[in-house]
Amino acid sequence: MTLPTHTAPHLVLLGAGHAHVHVLSTLAAQPLPGVHITLIAPYPRQLYSGMVPGFVAGHYALDDCVIPLEPLLENTGIRWLARSATGLDANTCCLTLDDGSELQYDWLSVNTGPVQDRQRIEAALPGAREHGLFVRPIETLGALWPRVAEMASTRALRVAIIGGGAAGIELAMAIRHRLPTASVTLITGGDKVGASYPSGVQQRVSRALKRRNVTVLPDVAASIQSGEVVLGSGARLACDVPIIATGAQAPAWLAGSGLALDEQGFIAVDACQRSTNHANVFAAGDVSSRVDQTLARSGVYAVRAGPALAKNLAAATTGMEPTPHMPPANTLNLLSCGDHYAIASWGPYSAQGRWVWWLKDWIDRSFIKRYQKA
Ligand SMILES: Cc1cc2nc3c(=O)[nH]c(=O)nc-3n(C[C@H](O)[C@H](O)[C@H](O)COP(=O)(O)OP(=O)(O)OC[C@H]3O[C@@H](n4cnc5c(N)ncnc54)[C@H](O)[C@@H]3O)c2cc1C
Repeated sequence: MTLPTHTAPHLVLLGAGHAHVHVLSTLAAQPLPGVHITLIAPYPRQLYSGMVPGFVAGHYALDDCVIPLEPLLENTGIRWLARSATGLDANTCCLTLDDGSELQYDWLSVNTGPVQDRQRIEAALPGAREHGLFVRPIETLGALWPRVAEMASTRALRVAIIGGGAAGIELAMAIRHRLPTASVTLITGGDKVGASYPSGVQQRVSRALKRRNVTVLPDVAASIQSGEVVLGSGARLACDVPIIATGAQAPAWLAGSGLALDEQGFIAVDACQRSTNHANVFAAGDVSSRVDQTLARSGVYAVRAGPALAKNLAAATTGMEPTPHMPPANTLNLLSCGDHYAIASWGPYSAQGRWVWWLKDWIDRSFIKRYQKA
């Protein structure tokens, strides 16, 4: 089935990630006359990942961490389809949705974030699909975590977090805070914990984990079976809840799309957030290539991309040239430690304390409040 086409030129916003939330709020204030706009997003809200460790720790209710989409769309004329894209043909400007329908566009803007590719993860870590709790989609983690917390109220759980990046570190300490009787183990996947951080931050993180009685195993998880994780060394770790925080990949549906992709499969964009081979396609956030390869993928960059994307989409749909968006070389990175304590880093500098947590809490709540409309 092909969804009805419109005589007006059609802009499709795919995904309601951090940048698109800003685009939507801009469009409410500054509509694009004569342009028909469709938002495709599977959930009626955007769950803000930066606050999810705080939700897991018990500091926030899930509703504190979400930006509902419908209020943002009110009186904008933007149509919302509660669907996911499963395919894209950039040569014919056609999206395939998860109900099999097809949608034509004149301009496409993609902000769908990364995925945890179940097939790839299962190949590297057999048993992950059957036994593991994946951190993405983040909505699923948000829905399943209360069940884990409930299980922990009847017996002492053994929890293993597989993946020693920022998400794994924060979740390990959040779980320690929320479930004081549980045994919590972080399987780092290598020698270092928080390997992408400068060594000063790595040391702070190691001390924070130790102080909170999180066991750190500098090993890889080789497979997961019922009740245990088998490590690369051959050792077996008894485990009731293995949490898969092994990083994120590009969505598989981009592979045959005809869009130029970077070496990891993310959409290759120029400095104006535009596909390098299809000028009517824009991409922002974690689904896009990094203009500067030294920058990490993070929610902070996805947030920063929003205002530039709003301007560039307005320019594209009015026949103007887009303008370059240069993300800053350093951004403030805040790692929560579960118990109203956090570690901050900015380039080579780092600090820690309760004040860092209050700062993170204030920044995160302000972000939500900015887009949460009553
Ligand atoms: C537990 C955890 C904690 C984190 N904490 C932080 C932090 O404190 N700071 C930080 O900077 N980063 C953090 N990150 C990383 C951060 O989540 C990502 O960098 C960030 O979410 C990327 O933003 P985005 O807008 O590109 O995509 P996302 O936030 O992933 O948003 C993508 C949106 O698109 C939708 N979508 C997905 N697929 C489709 C599809 N096929 N069709 C239509 N819609 C689709 C999704 O439902 C979602 O609404 C954390 C990650 C995790 C897992």
